[in-house]
Amino acid sequence: MTDTTQQVAGATLAPVWLPPAGDPNELVPAMWAHDVERGGHGELTVSGVPVSELRAQFGTPLFVMSEDDFRARARMFKDAFDNAFADICGGVDVYYAGKAFLCTEVARWVDSEGLRLDTCSGGELAVAKRAGLLGENLGLHGNNKSDAEINRALDMNLGRIVVDSLHELKRVAALATARNATANVMLRVTPGVHAHTHESIATAHEDQKFGLSLLSEDPDAPGMAAAEAASQLAVEAESINFLGFHAHIGSQIFEAEGFGIAARKLLAFTHEIQTRHGITLPELDLGGGYGIAYTAVDTPRPAAEVAAAMADVVRETCAELGMACPRISIEPGRAIVGSTTFTLYETGTLKTVQVEVDGQPDVTAPRRYVSVDGGMSDNARPVLYEADYSAVVANRASAAAPALSRVVGKHCESGDIVVRDVYLPNDVAAGDLLAVPGTGAYCWALASNYNYVPRPPVVALKNGAARLIVRGETEDDLLARDLGA
Ligand code: PLP
Repeated sequence: MTDTTQQVAGATLAPVWLPPAGDPNELVPAMWAHDVERGGHGELTVSGVPVSELRAQFGTPLFVMSEDDFRARARMFKDAFDNAFADICGGVDVYYAGKAFLCTEVARWVDSEGLRLDTCSGGELAVAKRAGLLGENLGLHGNNKSDAEINRALDMNLGRIVVDSLHELKRVAALATARNATANVMLRVTPGVHAHTHESIATAHEDQKFGLSLLSEDPDAPGMAAAEAASQLAVEAESINFLGFHAHIGSQIFEAEGFGIAARKLLAFTHEIQTRHGITLPELDLGGGYGIAYTAVDTPRPAAEVAAAMADVVRETCAELGMACPRISIEPGRAIVGSTTFTLYETGTLKTVQVEVDGQPDVTAPRRYVSVDGGMSDNARPVLYEADYSAVVANRASAAAPALSRVVGKHCESGDIVVRDVYLPNDVAAGDLLAVPGTGAYCWALASNYNYVPRPPVVALKNGAARLIVRGETEDDLLARDLGA
C-alpha cells in the first residue's frame, strides 16, 4: 500500500462468485441437515437441541451430525436409484463410500438402511467388522493394497475386491489360491472422462494413479490395453470370480453428463469383453462423486434427476449394444454424509485489515479475520483443494450489518483458512459460536494432530437427544505413542 491508498465506498475484496451480502443469519436449506433451524433468540438448534447445550456438554470444536438426516439421505439415494433402474436391472446396490466419514455407528446406520459399505483400507474393514456388517455387503478399494489388506478381505469373504492393476490382480489370485479360496473381483478402469472438479479429486482421466487404462499398455502385458490384459487374466484365473468393471470419475460433480459418458464407455467395454471371452459379467459399478452445496452458489441436482438421467443413458446403450444390463451399483459418500454435519467452533481473536483491491491500485477495502478454536486439523479441504465453505453465527441472531469475513483456524500456517470469504454480522465477538455447514464428508476423515491439536469429537442427534459417537482426543491420546520417558 502507498500513502495515496484510500477506502472507496463500494470497493470490496469479495470474490465474484460470492453473492452480495444478504441476511447473514439466513440458513440456506441446501447446506444444512433438515432438522437444523434457528430457535429462541435465533440460536441454532439440531433436532431441537440448542448449540449452547452441545457446547456445554461436549465443548468445541465439535462435529454435529444429524442421524435422522443421514438416514433420510441414505434412503433417498437408494430409493431414487432403485426406482430409476428398476426396469433395467431390477434396482441398484448403493455402497456408501466410508472414506467420506466412517465409524462403527455410521456403518450400522448404513447397514440398517439397506445400503452396503465401500471401504478402501484394512482399517475401514476393521470398522465394518466391529460394526458386525456381513462381508458379502462390503467392497474394498485401493490403488496399492497390501497383502495384509487383501488377506483380510479374503478372511471376511468380501462381496467384492475392486482391483486396480494387473500386478494387483496377480497378487489377489495368488493369495486366494494359497488358501484355496475364490476372490470376488471387479476391475477398476479409467474411461478417460475428465470430471470438471478439482484436479486432486478427478480420477478417471488417463494421467493419474488410479485404475486400469483402456488405452495404455501394462509393461507386463505388451500388445494389449491394461484393462484388456487384466480382463483376460480375471477370466482365466481359477481363484477369481470376475464380477465386472468399476469406474469413479471424480468428486463434487453436479452434472449427470460425465456419469453418462462413463457409463456408455463401461457398457461398451463390458460388451466387448463379454463377446471376446464368451462370458456374462453380472455387475457394473459407476462409482460416486455426486456433488453437494457448500455455499449458496452450489446447486446440486436432486438424486432422482441424476438417477433418471443415468438410467436413460444405460437403457439406451444396452439397447444399442443388444446386451442385458448388468446389476448396477454406485458409491456415493459426500452426497449422503456431507450436509448432515456442521462443525461448531468458538470464536476468539478478531482483527480487520485494509487490503488493496485487485485491479484497483490505491483503493483498499476491509477484510475481517475471525479466528476459531479449530482449523486445518479438523478441515483440511480448504488447504488441499481450495474448497469454499460458508458459516453463520450459531448462538444468536444478529441485527448488525454484514461484513466480509475470513474464518481462520488456530494453526501455525497463514494458509490455515476454514472459510475464505463469507459475510458475517459485524458484531461477531470473542466467545460467539460459529457453525460451518457441509463438513460431514472428508473433514473428520482427513483430520490430523497438526500442532498437537486433539481431533474433535462427533456427536449424533436424533429425536431431540445427543450422543457421542466418536469421543474427542485427549492430551493422553496425543502422548500415548510418544515413547519418550
Ligand atoms: N468411490 C471411489 C472409488 C472413490 O475414490 C470415492 C472418493 O474418492 C468415492 C466412491 C466417493 O466419492 P464421493 O464422496 O464424492 O461420492
